[in-house]
Amino acid sequence: MGELELVLDAKSVLGEGPSWDARRQCLYWVDIEGRKIHIYDPKSGSDREIEVPQRVGAVVPRASGGLVAALHDGFYAVDPDTGAVQPLVRSAEATEDVRFNDGKCDAAGRFLAGTMSISGVPQSGILYSLHTDLSVHKMVEQVTTSNGIAWSPDHKTMYYIDSPTKQIVAYDYDLDSGTIRNGRAVIRIPDGQGVPDGMTSDTEGMLWIAQWGGYRVTRWNPHNGECIATVSVPAARVTSCVFAGDDLSELYITTASVGLTDEQRKEQPHAGGLFRIKTNVRGMPTFAFEG
Ligand code: CA
Repeated sequence: MGELELVLDAKSVLGEGPSWDARRQCLYWVDIEGRKIHIYDPKSGSDREIEVPQRVGAVVPRASGGLVAALHDGFYAVDPDTGAVQPLVRSAEATEDVRFNDGKCDAAGRFLAGTMSISGVPQSGILYSLHTDLSVHKMVEQVTTSNGIAWSPDHKTMYYIDSPTKQIVAYDYDLDSGTIRNGRAVIRIPDGQGVPDGMTSDTEGMLWIAQWGGYRVTRWNPHNGECIATVSVPAARVTSCVFAGDDLSELYITTASVGLTDEQRKEQPHAGGLFRIKTNVRGMPTFAFEG
């Protein structure tokens, strides 16, 4: 692997949820608490912000044009050129305390995203799937902090993180129907390394997991539960990662500065920044919402 680079000293509050738009050759990411969608152009190094009216947990490209974002209370269409935000579907269970968090599209173009309690009420989140007909389906209930989602290269396995469990759970995934079954824990993050947050997968079927409170992204083999590589990040709160670039070998990593003490901010001056590392593997692509 190459050296980790700080590509954007963004000072985000809660940088998160990166996705790669191969068509537009840009990286979308969000600042959940800053209520912003960011569009980073690797060629120019420029980063543009779109302000949104609510917290924003995740953003993905939309095949018909524009973006879809999981805002606090549901799924919204976002026009990146005008900044216009239009509701698609609000969650029936949305409350002031329960907001959307991380999300990602499957290879059939469904947008999966889950919720969490802002005040920390356990098991009040749900993982949803927004199908292309705009129907919303509950996938996993009684989730505490719904976070990373990834699929195996054959799309037959979905991996999922409920952060406080410190586990990555695998499900058999039916891409035709978008349903899951047979959940089983396949990876456990060791004590003292924070908790698993966002996640992506590569074409070898390995998982890349951002560790909140762990100063690292780690690569894991979900077939035997072993950690096989570590990328050290100079920020404790490492939130998510995604593969990008022409051959999907560049891993972009988001971080957060939220909740750090003044002393911790001095020790982690680039917390909240966007980082990148050239890997020796190819990542799975970002899929767009097909609805
Ligand atoms: Ca997250």
